[in-house]
Amino acid sequence: MSELKLETIVALAKRRGFIFPASEIYGGFANTYDYGHYGVLLKNNVKNEWWRAMIQERDDIVALDSAIIQNPRVWEASGHLAGFTDPLVQCLGECKKRWREDKVREEELGDEHAEGEIHCPECGGELSEPRQFNLMFETYVGPVHDEDNRAFLRPETAQGIFINFKNVLQFSRKKPPFGIAQIGKSFRNEITPGNFIFRTLEFEQMEMEFFVPPADAGEWHDRWMDERMRWYTELGIRPEQLRLRAHGEDELSHYSSATSDIEYLFPMGWSELEGIANRGDFDLSQHAKFSGEKLEYVDSGSGDRFVPHVIEPAAGVDRAMLSFMVDAYDEEEVEGRQRTVLRLHPKLAPIKVAVLPLVNKDGQPEKAREIYEELRELMTAEYDTGGSIGKRYRRQDEIGTPWGVTVDHQTMEDDTVTLRDRDSLEQSRIAIGELADELSRRLAEPWTSPKLGAAA
Ligand code: ATP
Repeated sequence: MSELKLETIVALAKRRGFIFPASEIYGGFANTYDYGHYGVLLKNNVKNEWWRAMIQERDDIVALDSAIIQNPRVWEASGHLAGFTDPLVQCLGECKKRWREDKVREEELGDEHAEGEIHCPECGGELSEPRQFNLMFETYVGPVHDEDNRAFLRPETAQGIFINFKNVLQFSRKKPPFGIAQIGKSFRNEITPGNFIFRTLEFEQMEMEFFVPPADAGEWHDRWMDERMRWYTELGIRPEQLRLRAHGEDELSHYSSATSDIEYLFPMGWSELEGIANRGDFDLSQHAKFSGEKLEYVDSGSGDRFVPHVIEPAAGVDRAMLSFMVDAYDEEEVEGRQRTVLRLHPKLAPIKVAVLPLVNKDGQPEKAREIYEELRELMTAEYDTGGSIGKRYRRQDEIGTPWGVTVDHQTMEDDTVTLRDRDSLEQSRIAIGELADELSRRLAEPWTSPKLGAAA
């Protein structure tokens, strides 16, 4: 397939009800999107797979769901109030638009730190001196809008984890190395116009803080980089579209001694999916200092105490979802007709199986409905009678449904159906009584993308 454009994915997402521009009937709202039916199902599957990898398949991580609006002191201690800023420049020419200075430098000079003159990307006008702009959304708690009542929408979920370190340590009976995982919404007043759901004002994060003895931090950082790369590839992302990139000294956040980003080759170029940072003891020490609480681990046997160091894999749900959609998108010609297909890992596919009567008579719809009602107990299924069989398959291909079951004339005679595979287009005849087991077996199998090795 030729070079994929982001607009192609945006159009498919809209056409098939995955993602809509938010507030659309009012002309939209910058960098904000709403998720429709299939979008919700796909997003839930991404999150479920993350929980599975973090919680279900290991016993050294526990779950947390902390508040979005916390005591504002949290953001003082974390450094976000003073340091969570982007450099903002404004066009002094015709369009007066605002831009992130680092992004303009990167685009115009090839590197976000490059020296030299830059211009407005829209109208070529002169740009103002940069001004630091805090990305946190502010709000007020209670009826009075003054400094004393000012609070913030969290710009990351991680701090909710650090401030619960003591609670979790007490109830979970875990000792380092152990982790706390959380999925939730975060909010950032991003200035740069985004690339679809890649950069939005509100987004979901999947963050896990892994607390380790200080001497083991380097080793755990390496292990988490491997683990996280594996998660994406096991869910079908082609390895050649993924890379790990270590941050240079000048790129590191205020809290980090080492960070590597997992990047995906999106249509707009290599871009961050997830950051894996060694945060040292920065956060626990800061919160201990600001709160007055001791945030450390004390070994009940030896009496040894230490402030654990933290390794953090921090991923974006929406970005992961976009990468899965981009990686899955395919077009091909089948018997002279163009077909668009989302080759999603079956575990991620919003609908696992579509049950379709070949014709809308002779008892076929009733039979298909019966099969559908049985299968939906096991997995997400759809029953569809609308339009020609070819049209119905094309619809399912576009939303990435891996299997289609067709009820036809023969079904009414011998209780067999055809089972169609989305990727190979293979059709096999199978007894209705064996369908549930066969589909469950296929769903549990390892899966690799048929696009592997083909051109992006
Ligand atoms: P970027 O450099 O792209 O702004 P970041 O390095 O600031 O991202 P982190 O603070 O490391 O991002 O957040 C962890 C993850 O959260 C990111 O890797 C990304 O997947 C996701 N994320 C961050 N900001 C946004 C956003 N505005 N929209 C969507 N996802 C985001």
